[in-house]
Amino acid sequence: MPDVVIRAFRVSGFVPGPCTKCGKEERGLVMFEDYALGWECLSCGEIGRADRVEWIEGKDRPSRTSWTKKSDQSTPHTGQMPRP
Ligand SMILES: [Zn+2]
Repeated sequence: MPDVVIRAFRVSGFVPGPCTKCGKEERGLVMFEDYALGWECLSCGEIGRADRVEWIEGKDRPSRTSWTKKSDQSTPHTGQMPRP
């Protein structure tokens, strides 16, 4: 039996609240291959799935975005969500 491997991608966002494993508030947002969203602790590496997602305007996002450098390269730094 081969190992079941899930590849998760970091996307823009943050997960409020402390990590359930190490207690630090350093959780980043990840997306799984089935497009479900979850979180990854940047401190201890724990990964979990989100029970629900609260979609917010980009301008309201706190400035704790140091872990989203890679995914932010393709988006303009205007702080605004794209409008249709
Ligand atoms: Zn942790």
